[in-house]
This record gives sequence, C-alpha cells and structure tokens, in this order.
Amino acid sequence: MKAPGFNKLLAQLPSLNGPQRRQLLAALHPAAGLERIIALIAEVRAPGRRCPDCACDRCHRHGQANDLQRFRCRQCGRTFNDLTGTPLARLRFKGKWLDYLAALLDSRTVRRAASHVGVHRNTAFRWRHRFLHWVKHDRPRQLTGIVEADETFLLESQKGSRKLDRKPRKRGGKAGVRGISRHLDCILVARDRTGQTIDAVTGRGALKKSQLVQHLLPKLDPQALLVTDSNAAYRAFARDYGIAHQAVNLQAGERVRASGKGAIHVQNVNAYHRRFKEWLARFHGVASIRLPNYLGWHWALDGGRITSVEQLLRIAIRLIHS
Ligand SMILES: [Zn+2]
Repeated sequence: MKAPGFNKLLAQLPSLNGPQRRQLLAALHPAAGLERIIALIAEVRAPGRRCPDCACDRCHRHGQANDLQRFRCRQCGRTFNDLTGTPLARLRFKGKWLDYLAALLDSRTVRRAASHVGVHRNTAFRWRHRFLHWVKHDRPRQLTGIVEADETFLLESQKGSRKLDRKPRKRGGKAGVRGISRHLDCILVARDRTGQTIDAVTGRGALKKSQLVQHLLPKLDPQALLVTDSNAAYRAFARDYGIAHQAVNLQAGERVRASGKGAIHVQNVNAYHRRFKEWLARFHGVASIRLPNYLGWHWALDGGRITSVEQLLRIAIRLIHS
C-alpha cells in the first residue's frame, strides 16, 4: 500500500467500534507474531553466527527468503539463514510459532495446541517434536555432591507405528508378565541436591550395569556420592568405577539415614518420577520412541526452570551445552 492510502487508513482507525477494533487486532496478530519471532531468532543466532558448512564467521547479507535474512559465506559461498542446521529449518507459518511455544509451556496436548494456534493437528504434532529436539538435550554437564539415582517404569507403547513386534494390547492394557518385564520401558533418573537432573530411557526391562556406564557415568562427578536403592546393578557399577555409594534398603522399610555428607535417601528422585508421571498422564499414553522428548519437555518445565517463550525458543534453536 502506498503512503497516502496508508495514512488515510490510519486516520480512519479512531472511528472503529469495539468489535471492529478486536477484529482488526486479530487480523494483525499473526503479523505481529511473525515480526517478534523473526527479531528473536536473529537475536539468538547473531552472536557467533557462522556458516553451517565451513564454520567461517565471515558472511554478508544475501537477500531474503521465507521471511528470514539470508547470508552468504565469504569463504565457501554457501547461502544460509539463522535456522539452517537447526530443527526448525524449513518449518512454515512462523507467525504462529510464539503461540505454539506458549502452548508448549502450557503442556497442551496436540489437539488443544492445534486449535489454540490455528494449525492442523499433524502440524502441531510435527512442530512439537521439532521444537523439543534440542530442548531435550539441554541438560546439566555434571551432577555433583549427593546424587540420587533410581529407575522407574512405564508400559512400553508402539503407538503410531505400523508394525507391532507383539500382539496388540487392549486399550489401557497391562504388561503381560508380572514384575519387571520386557513390556516395560525403563527410565533412569539421577538428580543431585541442587536439583540438576538427568534422565535416560535405557530400554525395555530391568536396568543393567552397562546402561549405568553409558548414561550415568559421563554425567557423574568422580567425587560424587551416589545414593540408590539396593538394586545390585548400582552396587556393581559403583564398585567397578570407584564411585562412593550408599544404598537405602527400601525393602527393609528404611527411608532416610543420616550421614556425615547429608541425609541418605532417594526421595527427591522418586518425587521427580511422580511429577513426571502425573504430568505425562494428560497425553494418554505416548509412544516409547518419543519418551526422551517428553522427559526433556518435562525437565524444561519442572520447577519453573523455563517460564517464557523466549527462553524456550532460545534453547530450541541454540544448544546451550554443546
Ligand atoms: Zn562457508
């Protein structure tokens, strides 16, 4: 629109009635969202902007595409934008991303997020996993001091997959075999007393020492005191890797024991399990293969760690702990 026409339009705005004003605001809402998200993306990515191909930090502006500034690398000549190489590259409807991020902060289901944001359910589903892809890796580097570790189990689910590797279960089914069976997904959670938490889906069935080596060892300060229940896998792991270890004998009714280093118990990690499962219930069963995303999502929200769409976007497009 040319300037005179636009000025005329502006001059007419005061004569709008209430409903018309609201209608106009609603029509402008996606545009305002688009402007804000574009500015945010640039703000997050501009420091240390590098060519995704050769990592050269010298580039120049090279037109616009898909609402984003394009850059051209001075060294290799490749063009890129601020989302190239991130999980959000090539996703459409950027004007709706902020509303979608708000839906993630509210832990909305796919259906509710879709209607809130005004996109198709399939889009809301795809976006969820793209937006959470890097969020789930945003974890502490190390757990220190007293580190509680314990595993919990969820009925494995092949929701959404075409081929089942077992007989289908009735809705809301139970594992076929009692005890810790191959129908349960094992989730290992470790949490230190400052609240730093890591988790891992270790696979189906009981936890093994080798899984502790794979998932817990790299995150454990060698000086940490590992506190667990009396599961033999932890004992063997701690012994083999020279880690100080105290076990609470829950079966014998022991809950807390005093020690020189602090109270010996696994109540923080068990409370974390409980909060995760309560939060997860709203999704009515999630596919096993997606569990890491949900664990990461929950970690982002637990204890108010991430409370704004800006923070969430920052993590979704920039690995904090790379
Ligand atoms: Zn380059």
